[in-house]
Amino acid sequence: ATEDNLLEVNNIEVIYNHVILVLKGVSLAVPKGRITALLGGNGAGKTTTLKAISNLLASERGEVTKGSITYRGQRVASLDPASLVRKGVIQVMEGRRCFEHLTVEENLLTGAYTRSDGSAAIRQDLEMVYNYFPRLRERRRSQAGYTSGGEQQMVAMGRALMSRPETILLDEPSMGLAPQLVEQIFEIVKAVNEGEGVTFLLAEQNTNVALRFAHYGYILENGRVVMDGTAQALRENPDVKEFYLGMS
Ligand code: ATP
Repeated sequence: ATEDNLLEVNNIEVIYNHVILVLKGVSLAVPKGRITALLGGNGAGKTTTLKAISNLLASERGEVTKGSITYRGQRVASLDPASLVRKGVIQVMEGRRCFEHLTVEENLLTGAYTRSDGSAAIRQDLEMVYNYFPRLRERRRSQAGYTSGGEQQMVAMGRALMSRPETILLDEPSMGLAPQLVEQIFEIVKAVNEGEGVTFLLAEQNTNVALRFAHYGYILENGRVVMDGTAQALRENPDVKEFYLGMS
């Protein structure tokens, strides 16, 4: 364990329904202040890896049966998602779930629920979120359910930021979005990473865009890490070019 790794996943195995082995020994490290990408096709195990980290597997009848996961050197296995948020780790789920009947701003405010500091600090963070997502400021009084897919992705990310996280686990931010919006979302990830020092672990099928914004990447295939390296090394790797960059 090196000191600058916030999160370490060591050789984990995940089984669903007691029989379906989905992760077959996955290891990865997420250094502080960096953007790490978890890449791979549909069903490779990206979402399962994120859910294993944030302890969201139980509701899907999944469990980590081997290996360990540590955050700041401490095992996270016994922490429920809310305690993990208090430790600074928050997951933005795939499908950008937001509270459809609440306004954009009310959605963002729900993200501050674990905080004990006063409303002045929360207003200030709302400002911070609106500065990264000017579109959300414009839409703040709109009912979230009536905003576009891209705006809902922004709401989900903005809500996560409202908990002042140290690390964001971001699942498939590009899903269902037009290329130009995907670009915009990744620009914001980069800006938040640089501006707030937030660490990201992002699962993404769009290898192309992920490797332009991440610092380091892991490629998952069939529940195993088959390759990892700096984003630049992966972009230049012939196999990655052939099997991943050609198609996205
Ligand atoms: P996606 O982009 O579709 O989310 P992924 O890389 O995130 O892909 P996972 O969602 O982690 O992949 O799924 C990995 C494998 O685990 C798939 O074969 C999937 O069918 C299986 N799986 C996922 N959830 C469950 C579950 N609750 N019960 C049984 N099998 C599951």
